[in-house]
Amino acid sequence: MDDCLFCKISSGEIPTEFLFEDNKVVAFRDIDPQGPFHILIIPKEHYTSIKDIKDESLTGHMFSVGNRVAEENNIENFRCIINTGEEAGQTVFHVHLHLIGGRRMTWPPG
Ligand code: AMP
Ligand code: ZN
Repeated sequence: MDDCLFCKISSGEIPTEFLFEDNKVVAFRDIDPQGPFHILIIPKEHYTSIKDIKDESLTGHMFSVGNRVAEENNIENFRCIINTGEEAGQTVFHVHLHLIGGRRMTWPPG
């Protein structure tokens, strides 16, 4: 999709170091990390939000990749978040799974 930041990252148009890449997803570090370890796992195909993904194997794959990258980086405790819609805190409208770890967290989120 034209003018989508995460499409430009996943396609390589904006050079970004990937912690994981296959034909369906990429994982990269968040530019404004909310913990010592904060990555984003995104599908290469553009979906505005999780509500638009009808293929549950893709959502499952995003979580599996998160697990794998966390394990590779010795992150045993982490939180996965998918902000969906502006009121929920979504600011980039290409679906992304946040995986944050490396610090103690509180509940509920703000
Ligand atoms: P959300 O608020 O859930 O839509 O999350 C968007 C996330 O994208 C935020 O955590 C931003 O810090 C992150 N972000 C924005 N631009 C970039 C970028 N160029 N590279 C990596 N992460 C980014
Ligand atoms: Zn996109």
